[in-house]
Amino acid sequence: MSELSFISIKDLKLKLEKKEVSPDEVLKYYIGQFNKFDNKIKSALEVFNIDLIKKATSGQGALFAIPGLIKDNIAQENRKLSCASKILENYIAPYDATVVDRLKKAGAFSLGRANMDEFAMGSSGETSAYQKTVNPWNIKRVPGGSSSGSAACVAAGLVPWSLGSETGGSVRQPAILCGVVGMKPTYGLISRYGLVAYGSSIDQIGPITRTVYDNALILSTIGGHDSKDSTSARIDKQDYTKTLTGKLKNGFTLGVIDNALEAEGVDTEVYNLLNESLKIFEKLGAKIKRIKLPMMDYGAAVYFVVSRAEAASNLAKFDGVRYGFRAKEIESLDSMYKHTRSKGFGLEVKSRILIGNYVLSAGHSEEFYQSAKIVQSMIRGSFLKAFEDVDLLFAPGAPSEAFEFGKYDDNKLLMDLQDYFTCSVNLAGIPSLAIPCGFTKNKLPVGFQLIGSDFSEHEIYQAAYAYEQETLWYKHHPVI
Ligand code: GLN
Repeated sequence: MSELSFISIKDLKLKLEKKEVSPDEVLKYYIGQFNKFDNKIKSALEVFNIDLIKKATSGQGALFAIPGLIKDNIAQENRKLSCASKILENYIAPYDATVVDRLKKAGAFSLGRANMDEFAMGSSGETSAYQKTVNPWNIKRVPGGSSSGSAACVAAGLVPWSLGSETGGSVRQPAILCGVVGMKPTYGLISRYGLVAYGSSIDQIGPITRTVYDNALILSTIGGHDSKDSTSARIDKQDYTKTLTGKLKNGFTLGVIDNALEAEGVDTEVYNLLNESLKIFEKLGAKIKRIKLPMMDYGAAVYFVVSRAEAASNLAKFDGVRYGFRAKEIESLDSMYKHTRSKGFGLEVKSRILIGNYVLSAGHSEEFYQSAKIVQSMIRGSFLKAFEDVDLLFAPGAPSEAFEFGKYDDNKLLMDLQDYFTCSVNLAGIPSLAIPCGFTKNKLPVGFQLIGSDFSEHEIYQAAYAYEQETLWYKHHPVI
């Protein structure tokens, strides 16, 4: 059975079809993987009981008996939904998120809840109120965040797919630091029904897998219009595996975002590996065009304001009345709110709520929030303009290899600055895929992102697949 541990969804499907393994054996094997290795990796906050997993899955579709893990800010009916926060410690989701419903209908097994930064706020997994997920390539290093558990479990071979969520890079950055494939789709392509909101105008769920094909397969299952989400795009479900030919489209032009690749803070090893990747694209027939996107340089500042403002407003509902934890010291309604929120939220979340309320407050909202929204639309405009000349854009998704735990304890702002590489894409609402492109001397993974215009997921997967088939980085595994 050990051949199952780093197997792709594609190959596991074949084994199941040929009856070389049964769904029961698959399920037992992967739960066994968590029992064996997750006390070290700490990617899951909970692994469900085997009978309950079987009971919850009735479908016989494209993902029949394929196990995965779901970030703990996505609702799974009758299961805890904690967002890795104390304030939702015992909260039970009353319904399935649309993505969970679609996965179940396709026959997939959800094995449990993936650890994350509290309420998806962070880049290292260190803000989880429960545990620190480690990087499977080196347990002294962070897995990235906020979808820390989702990236680590796939990288460690514990499951072949997981779901994460993005507001400013939380799928792509951990995917890169863990050496796996992570998609941030076009805003509105995947339903947000059942996703606990952080920054509603930029949040998106995204799949994490080891290969590009598998990623396209998960998106094909969960994407497409959902009447339960008013921000869902009117786009039908599509098969994103269709364009995976192993070739680039004729005349393919790849634009390199020069100001991102040459940015201060991009480590030399990362820089060199990214340049090697560009040579591979050239070899595959791509025309490389260097461009500048100066508006991207405002991304981190705009993201800082927009995400905090929306978070403050979205998290106002966690006050001890309807959801989860309620503090015991209650002298009045006000003191109940105060104690519940003081005890229930961690430091990072509290600091974001404070900043968010400030930038929205009377007298300041025009100066901060309204201005940020104007610059956000300019960022989107500059990306769309760039796509008039190139098919896709190429950029780093993380400036360095995975860093050590505690590295940014004294200066959190330095960690936030890393959002520079990812968050403009969220602000622009466009899709981007992170894929692995080699290893540093420390044997830690490096990756890049391919960014496309609205609903260009087909093109992104096509180019990423051609690159992946040429390089086969996914064949490398960590020793756990
Ligand atoms: N690192 C970013 C933050 O802390 C990304 C979070 C996200 O995408 N959810 O806000």
